[in-house]
Amino acid sequence: MNNIIFFGPPGAGKGTQAKIIADFLDLPHLSTGEILRSKIEEKDNLGILVKEIIASGKLVSDKILNEIVSEKLVNDCNNGFILDGYPRTLDQSIFLNKFLEKKSLSINFIFNIEIDFKTLNNRIMIRSKKENREDDNISVIKTRYQEYLNTTKGVSEKYNKDYPEIFFNIDGDHEINEITSKIKKILLNS
Ligand code: AMP
Repeated sequence: MNNIIFFGPPGAGKGTQAKIIADFLDLPHLSTGEILRSKIEEKDNLGILVKEIIASGKLVSDKILNEIVSEKLVNDCNNGFILDGYPRTLDQSIFLNKFLEKKSLSINFIFNIEIDFKTLNNRIMIRSKKENREDDNISVIKTRYQEYLNTTKGVSEKYNKDYPEIFFNIDGDHEINEITSKIKKILLNS
């Protein structure tokens, strides 16, 4: 079974790679950013709250995220999954570990896509024009990157320390297909 986590700062290309690898392995792609953006479309109280938080660049609460992810994992992920954008906090990683333990599951691969702030800033400016995302502008990007440095980077570092044999750092400053080849090579050779 393949249970995979993608880490990386906003704009590193983790969503792009997660999608490609999900198709390649025929696994569900759980992008928490995408799931939250679809909640916004529902325009209920939760949707309005999520919209405000995402637009500010801050993180949505652990409670909401843990509920969303556990529901998806129970319903859609019996043959494996690709997590893209989760866990982002220590609390989320503890919740995920407990959840997996209860189901006698484990993580098989963790890919951490690395990129510097200048490169991702340029990328996000291009993406904002293409995808019209409210959270893709300079001031929000700074907040999102800061959230990453303050919270999520530490979570990925903990995974690296706890699971070094399945943790792979990937240089995100390459063409999409080059990065994909590197990831596929790791998947196929492990
Ligand atoms: P992404 O598409 O992964 O860059 O996520 C877009 C936004 O959704 C983030 O900036 C957060 O506001 C929110 N979000 C996505 N995943 C999480 C998560 N695991 N925990 C908290 N907030 C999240």
